[in-house]
Amino acid sequence: RQDLPVKEPLKQGDIFIAVKTTRKYHKSRLDLLFQTWISRAKEETFIFTDGEDKELREKAGDQMINTNCSAAHTRQALCCKMSVEYDKFIESGKKWFCHVDDDNYVNLASLMRLLSSYSHTRDVYLGRPSLDHPIEAAERVKSDGSISVKFWFATGGAGFCISRGLALKMSPWASLGNFISTAEKIRLPDDCTIGYIIEALLEVKMIHSRLFHSHLENLQRLPIDTVLNQVTLSYGGFESHRNVVSIGGIFSLVEDPSRFKTVHCLLYSDTNWCRRIGRD
Ligand code: UDP
Ligand code: MN
Repeated sequence: RQDLPVKEPLKQGDIFIAVKTTRKYHKSRLDLLFQTWISRAKEETFIFTDGEDKELREKAGDQMINTNCSAAHTRQALCCKMSVEYDKFIESGKKWFCHVDDDNYVNLASLMRLLSSYSHTRDVYLGRPSLDHPIEAAERVKSDGSISVKFWFATGGAGFCISRGLALKMSPWASLGNFISTAEKIRLPDDCTIGYIIEALLEVKMIHSRLFHSHLENLQRLPIDTVLNQVTLSYGGFESHRNVVSIGGIFSLVEDPSRFKTVHCLLYSDTNWCRRIGRD
């Protein structure tokens, strides 16, 4: 009995959270994240961007990583960032790699709860499928492209997580610039390439989760009583067709167009800038 391994409880510090951003969104998007969820996960959050920024450097210190990738919204530039995220995660020694965009809210308690139910030494790839069917691509890594492969992938805009055990197995196709050549071979975006390496090359099945959310879905339709249990949230289209979660009661839509401040205050009512709920 005594020599049975004890399952260690997961600590927040065991997670590596990579936030993908770009110079032009440091103010408009990242500031909101620093005010909200990143303030509760300073040690574990790493910002991957493409340009120096004195203010951001002061806030994030070494956790701001200037990838020196191009600031263009091209497959090459985005894959370049993902490849740096992967390498930094491997170097960090942490148990879980989670990637999010700069328009995602991360509910840390929900994320911990979810990851706690899996082992980081096993092959785990968790996220929301981008499509309702697997994607089909020409197999150009293991063969000459004359046959095709079908695989699921987690949409990057909703965030996804990979266990260290699985991440290490991805190394031949993901580490030190290999990610960029893999993506170039199959000519697919960064998040699809992750799915391709895991499902098509390593033959590990993605675990489909409904707890990750991007603005590709209708966020208004998320039941209000479940919003605070989700792992990630997002927002989209403030101007014409607003797509945000239906949760209110603290800030107006003008004060909090994304609803991230409202969500944050409902989760952490001890935050100094949060108003007391139900005050008259
Ligand atoms: N992004 C980037 N470089 C760019 C444009 C966007 O790294 O030139 C990042 C952006 O910061 C975000 C992600 O890519 O984390 C997705 O961008 P966005 O939300 O603007 O697009 P969408 O979600 O519609 O794909
Ligand atoms: Mn987005």
